[in-house]
Amino acid sequence: MTPITHLTIHCAATPEGRDNSAAEVTRWDIQRFGQASYHWVVELDGDAIRTLRDDQKGAHVAGHNTGNIGICYVGGTSTLNTGAKPKDTRTPKQRETLRRLVAEYRAKYPGIIVLGHRDWPGVSKACPIFDVKTAL
Ligand SMILES: [Zn+2]
Repeated sequence: MTPITHLTIHCAATPEGRDNSAAEVTRWDIQRFGQASYHWVVELDGDAIRTLRDDQKGAHVAGHNTGNIGICYVGGTSTLNTGAKPKDTRTPKQRETLRRLVAEYRAKYPGIIVLGHRDWPGVSKACPIFDVKTAL
């Protein structure tokens, strides 16, 4: 099995307060990439839904998916009537779940490098709209 070396946090780029399910996010990914992108999707209520096993390759950071766990929270833009601009929309429950998942991966894969999507070299996106290094 490929060693797990990285964990990358993403947002789904859905509008604040819109309660998209992990199944919907996964359906969009399958339409765009032919597979589920992430290993986990964290819904607004904080539920973490597993969408890939850790030994399955994700499709979430261009050119860097081997050994890279992807976790995506639902949200990440302001509401449509405010122009759907990048916004940290994490609910308190989502924050709690993201912290828990990251802690679990750090315990399970010592030395794992935890990044936000935007922290990868050459990425010009705002995703996940918060500073993973200081927040998680
Ligand atoms: Zn992303």
